[in-house]
Order: sequence, then C-alpha cells, then structure tokens
Amino acid sequence: TGIIHVIGGGLAGSEAAWQAASAGAHVVVHEMRPVRTTDAHSTDGFAELVCSNSLRSDDYENNAVGLLHEEMRRAGSLILKCADAHRLPAGGALAVDRHGFSGAVTQALTEHPNIEIAREEIAEPPAAWDNVVVATGPLTSPALADFVRTLTDAESLSFFDAIAPIVHHDSIDMDVAWMQSRYDKGDGKDYINCPLDRDQYEAFIAALLAGEKTEFKEWEKSTPYFEGCLPIEVMAGRGADTLRYGPMKPVGLRDPRFEKRPYAVVQLRQDNALGNLWNMVGFQTKLKHAEQVRIFRMIPGLENAQFARLGGLHRNTFLNSPRLLDPELRLKVRPSLRFAGQVTGVEGYVESAAIGLLAGRFAAGKTTPPPITTALGALLAHITVGAEAETFQPMNVNFGLFPAMPPGPRGRDRKKAMSARALTDLAGWLNPPA
Ligand code: FAD
Repeated sequence: TGIIHVIGGGLAGSEAAWQAASAGAHVVVHEMRPVRTTDAHSTDGFAELVCSNSLRSDDYENNAVGLLHEEMRRAGSLILKCADAHRLPAGGALAVDRHGFSGAVTQALTEHPNIEIAREEIAEPPAAWDNVVVATGPLTSPALADFVRTLTDAESLSFFDAIAPIVHHDSIDMDVAWMQSRYDKGDGKDYINCPLDRDQYEAFIAALLAGEKTEFKEWEKSTPYFEGCLPIEVMAGRGADTLRYGPMKPVGLRDPRFEKRPYAVVQLRQDNALGNLWNMVGFQTKLKHAEQVRIFRMIPGLENAQFARLGGLHRNTFLNSPRLLDPELRLKVRPSLRFAGQVTGVEGYVESAAIGLLAGRFAAGKTTPPPITTALGALLAHITVGAEAETFQPMNVNFGLFPAMPPGPRGRDRKKAMSARALTDLAGWLNPPA
C-alpha cells in the first residue's frame, strides 16, 4: 500500500498511526498544534488529555471500560502502554501523569522509523491521498469541518453535543411504565412512557430548578443553544408548564392502569438494535451527574433506573456515523477517508483511542472488524451499524452494547462471564487460524 495520512495527533490519531506503522505501513501524521491550537488544548504534545487525567476504571472483569483497556493492551496499544508507564495511584482507576503520558506518546511516534510528523493544519485532504484517517476530535478545526460538511450534509455534523441520558431497559419498572406511541402511531408501541401526576410533576420541576448544574467553560458561552435542544432545566426555568407542553406533554397517551391521560409523561425511545438501552427523549441537561441520578429517579417507573450514560451538553463535532460510515469506518461517499476518535460519535479518551486502534489496523489492510462480543467490536458495531441514526448521540463503552449472554449468571457474575467471553473471542481475532 501507499502512504497512510493521519490527520490529528490526539488520542485516536496517535493510536491509529502507531497501529498502522506497527503493521508495516508508512504513515504521515499531520497535527496542527502548535501552528494552530484548539480552545481546549494547551500544549503541542501528542495525545494531550484536555481535562481529567483519568482513563476511568481499570477493572476488566466488572467494568466495560476496564475491559476495553485490557483488550487494547493485548492488541499492542500505544496509549495503554504509555498510560501504564505513567500511572498514578487512583484506586481502581487508571489515572496518569498527563505530561509524562503525552511525552511518552510523542517520543514513541517521533522515534518510529515508519512515522513522519508534519506540524500543519489540513483544511482539505488532497484528492491524491488515497488512504486517510481523519482523527481531528470534538474540536476539529472549522475549515476541515466545513469540508466534511460539504461531503455529507449540514444535518450530519453536530456542533452542540446535547446528550440525553440512557437507561438500561431491565432497570425500568414496567408495572408502572407502559409501551405506547402518541396517538398509537407507527406500530403503536414504540415508546416507553413514565406517567407523572400533578404533585409528582411539580416536585420534579422544583428539583430540576434547585439541582446543581455544571458551569459552562468560557469558550462554550459563545456557542448558542439550538432551540431544538434546550436543556430541560432551562425549559423548566421558562415556566412551570413549559415542559408539560414540550418533551413531557401527555397528549395522545393513555395510562392503562387508570384508563386516562396522565398529567405529564417522560418518554424513552429505543437506542440500539439489541433493545436493551433506551434514551430519555428530550432530556438533555447540564445537571451534575449525581444530581441527574437523584432527580431522574423521582420519575415513576425509574425509581431504580440504572444509567448507561448520563446527560451532558458541550461543543462537539461528530458525524452521524450509523448513516455515513461503513463497518470499517470509511466514509461511504468517499471511501479513501476513514474516521477515528470522538468525531465518529464515541465519547471519552479510551473510546476515542480504541476507535483509533481499529482505524489504524483497517487502514493498514490487516484485519476485519473484531467480534461484537468484544468491547472493541461492540463499540465499533454500535457506531457503525447498531445505533439508530435518527437519534445518534456520542456513546461511552458499556455492557449494554454487548450481545446478551445465554441465561445463567446474573449481576457481577454476568459481567465476569461477558469479559471472559470477550477476551477469548479477542484472542481469535488477534491470532486468526492460519
Ligand atoms: P483529540 O484528542 O482532541 O485530538 C484531535 C487532534 O486533532 C488535536 O490534537 C487537534 O489539534 C488536531 N486537529 C484538529 N483539526 C485539525 C486539522 N484540520 N488539521 C490537523 N490537526 C487537527 N474525555 C474523557 O474521557 N475525559 C474527560 O475528562 C474529557 N474532557 C473533555 C473536555 C473537553 C473540553 C472536551 C472538548 C472533550 C473532553 N473529553 C473527555 C472527550 C474526548 O474524550 C476527548 O476530547 C478526546 O481527546 C478525544 O480524542 P480524539 O483523538 O478524538 O480528539
């Protein structure tokens, strides 16, 4: 193969370059810092951690992100190797010395004989580049974002990341909630509905208004809200009934327990093909995570809700990957461009690096997608084929993305069994029978 051009030397681009070069390919990494910087980066190092210094749980038997760490280690990940080498004490979490970590990644890339580094912004990849990995992150430079938008369409490159919480289906109390679409549209039962009476609604609005919110970063203040994705607490602040006429409107619905329309309702919509994850419709929020758990458990039917992801709102550039990318992360309309990292609609340092790992291997022509029973495979399948394109939002890795296990172990034992299955299947993918 010819040269692989990796645009962006963040978590994903660094890993992609390393994997492709380790597979024998010749790689050029184009990183715009320090020539041009972003609103969040403050150094010119590769794989700079822009915020927290934690790569989250390292417990591979009980936690999906820990499992992703372990799979990446076994696949020769540069990001994990450098994180392990610069690890700080943090209980069960993999926290790192951010400067040591970024320095080690920078050194490894600089010293690799197959890797060349160019410090430049790429506004538009030249047509002659036939094997490109775009890993420019949530703060992709505006010029490149414009170029990608012309290839796709304006709808498919979001700029404000309004994340609604996602709930594990088996934690919803279906004796209280019921399945129905408004006015029985579609096949009549597309949504899960959680009913609130007047007292419950008023208590809920009061809790939203009093709840502790996350502050906007200075540079985020200039990004306007789209009216279509206002945080629920902002809507609640506009008047007691605003939510009851907005995402919590009860029209077209009947609570089968009381044979009448509820005072207000919270709807959940299926979020993945497996049907085990459901998102709370219209519930983007900037409430602090602990406050979200406390306040959303006031909703009848969600008293014991387990959240696969909590809500959030920050500037983010990401593709509608289920619609735009093929199973090996290539842009369907321009297959010479492959995408990796947060721009593909995964969320988090580790997830971004994981997609970089896969993109690098795909670009080098060495492999096919990993089994969906692995954390790498489950995350990739979610963004490329599993997630609903209509409601696609950035996703953390979690066990809800994995196919179910045969009936048997539950709780912690079930996670252990899923991890064991993942590592067995990963070994088959890493070392296919000759
Ligand atoms: P990045 O690491 O951002 O790398 C992209 C690189 O591309 C950058 O180096 C950039 O300079 C370069 N680039 C951009 N455009 C061009 C261009 N046109 N030409 C050349 N180079 C270009 N995740 C967590 O897990 N924990 C957190 O605490 C956390 N905090 C975050 C805080 C903020 C403010 C943001 C925006 C995101 C945060 N994230 C966090 C989410 C995400 O995991 C990180 O942004 C992560 O760095 C994404 O990895 P990436 O490789 O996709 O992008």
